[in-house]
Amino acid sequence: MLEKAEAAIATSSGMSALMTMAYSLLSSGDRVVCSRNIFGSTIKFFDAYTKKFGVDVVYVDATDYTAWEREITDNTRLCYFETPSNPLYEVVDVERVAKIAHKKNALLCVDTVLATPVLQNPITQGADIVMQSATKFIDGQGRCLGGALIASQELVNEFTGFMRSAGPCMSPFNAWVLLNALETLPLRMRSHSENAQALAEWLEKHPKVLKVNYGGLPSHKYHELAKRQQRGFGGLLSFEVLGGRSAAWSVINGTRLLSITGNLGDTKTLVTHPASTTHGRLSDEQKQAAGITEGLIRISVGLEDVHDIIEDLEQALNNI
Ligand SMILES: *Cc1c(COP(=O)(O)O)cnc(C)c1O
Repeated sequence: MLEKAEAAIATSSGMSALMTMAYSLLSSGDRVVCSRNIFGSTIKFFDAYTKKFGVDVVYVDATDYTAWEREITDNTRLCYFETPSNPLYEVVDVERVAKIAHKKNALLCVDTVLATPVLQNPITQGADIVMQSATKFIDGQGRCLGGALIASQELVNEFTGFMRSAGPCMSPFNAWVLLNALETLPLRMRSHSENAQALAEWLEKHPKVLKVNYGGLPSHKYHELAKRQQRGFGGLLSFEVLGGRSAAWSVINGTRLLSITGNLGDTKTLVTHPASTTHGRLSDEQKQAAGITEGLIRISVGLEDVHDIIEDLEQALNNI
């Protein structure tokens, strides 16, 4: 009962959960209204492989509720967003978007990969479907890929129909690894959140740090909403350093304990530069619109002693 929903189905990855949902639910002539601040591969899937079957996909600023009102039309079948978002920690009000979607008989799917079912259950807040990638915090050690769709029995029956015909199911070995991982997920999420909170508070006071994006900071724009709809703030944060791209890279390259990689959700602390990795395919204008600056550094805070993480970043920040 992690997700407090009626039913769920496991998939081979987060992206295959998305594919299973899209092919089960969408027909040509339908419209999808989607947040523009989502995982890059999700945008690629919608643009390259959904639109070509005659499905219209439009993108909105997910925190602009008048945009959802405006874009959810009578032919809208699916609304989609991530909360909290990566890497800027935008938080979207699930209840509010669910109400707007349901007025037009559209379904709402929420990707809560960063919160995991330990910190948030969108189904209890009005969402129809939750999309999970188990590859991240759920596995927690970068060992295998996995995903899940959580919804009503009726919707899960539709997903199962597609799964039987197309085959994006979870392998038995990955299912075993992930079931074991679920046993420690609540403990791990609590520790990820504690470490991220301590690191965020330390970074916020650092003279070379311009801004810290983390839902657990009272200064964060979405702190109150995150507090209301989540049971903790999770392990992902980002911060902006003085000096732009070269400064960001000298901090990243100067770390010794942290691993430099685009992955997230590991027991090890991972650091990356979103503007040249996760968001590297975007044009300068798109990066600006999405708030991905050159001085931005993303950290997936792991389970090491937080003093070690702070010490490593302290010596790395001395490089600028
Ligand atoms: C990684 C990720 C996905 C895709 O999951 P995979 O298991 O890697 O296919 C989807 N959404 C978010 C927010 C992610 O971080």
